[in-house]
Amino acid sequence: MPMPATAERIFSFEFFPPNTPEGREKLRATTLQLAQLGPKFFSVTYGAGGSTRDRTLETVLDIQGSGFEAAPHVSCIASTLAGIRDTLQRYRDHGIRHLVALRGDLPSGLATAGEFRYAYELVDFVRREFGAHFFIEVAAYPEYHPQARNALEDLRNFKRKVEAGADSAITQYFYNADCYFHFVDECAAMGIDVPIVPGIMPINRFSQLARFSDTCGAEIPRWIRNKLEAYGDDVDSVRAFGLDVVTDLCDRLLQGGAPGLHFYTLNQAGAASTIWQRLGL
Ligand code: FAD
Repeated sequence: MPMPATAERIFSFEFFPPNTPEGREKLRATTLQLAQLGPKFFSVTYGAGGSTRDRTLETVLDIQGSGFEAAPHVSCIASTLAGIRDTLQRYRDHGIRHLVALRGDLPSGLATAGEFRYAYELVDFVRREFGAHFFIEVAAYPEYHPQARNALEDLRNFKRKVEAGADSAITQYFYNADCYFHFVDECAAMGIDVPIVPGIMPINRFSQLARFSDTCGAEIPRWIRNKLEAYGDDVDSVRAFGLDVVTDLCDRLLQGGAPGLHFYTLNQAGAASTIWQRLGL
């Protein structure tokens, strides 16, 4: 589904809520730096079960207070209807109009899933309780979600979120542009017509990336893994190679019609800014 020539591309940056005053201060500087690139919005993650509820709100208000659009993530696993309603009311009362609605993952040691099982139920709940107030993003998985029974069911489940009222989607990160294009084609064939914005994870440290990827089921292609492993502790080479790989990926995605890019920044401006400049955005 190539992007119409007149459509505006959507660029966004994702943060996690800092847990120290120093982290908060540093994130303010990062926000200002990345804001110069003119993103549509900044999103802020949310710990499953509401573990970062106050810090996510605090971070979102910091961003909004600096004059930028902020989109809090809301995950519904291990939550009650009343708790989610309360969180959403707080966002609405603070003038927030943009959400990333997720299921989340059950925190280890917690046995009960709460009153929501899947993200489409959260999307449905937001629409029933808050009408069109929020613009709703949902997650999509070009390499399919690791817990899905199979790829086709995962696609149907993605469609359920769109039918429940999602406006747009952001993907899990990946390093293989073909899987994204294939996924977008599959979605179009199923009548899914929301923008599917690729999630981009810059490469800074191999051990951290390998850990994330094992958890979320994102594949690091063998040639990239081998090269990163070969660099070992040579951080500069890892970063230089990572910038080449990810810039090339972004370039292919945009050339191929991706409607924008969403950067998982890990609260750092450096890699995303460099990729941005190299792309000439
Ligand atoms: P769902 O869409 O509910 O899907 C989860 C699984 O259930 C899939 O395998 C799907 O196929 C299956 N499924 C869905 N509906 C049904 C059904 N009716 N019957 C059977 N199976 C079904 N996590 C956080 O905790 N906090 C965050 O801030 C956060 N931000 C994220 C941002 C992005 C852009 C992405 C891509 C992920 C983020 N995550 C976050 C991770 C996310 O919560 C996990 O990937 C989680 O495992 C799935 O969430 P989901 O919203 O995609 O769930």
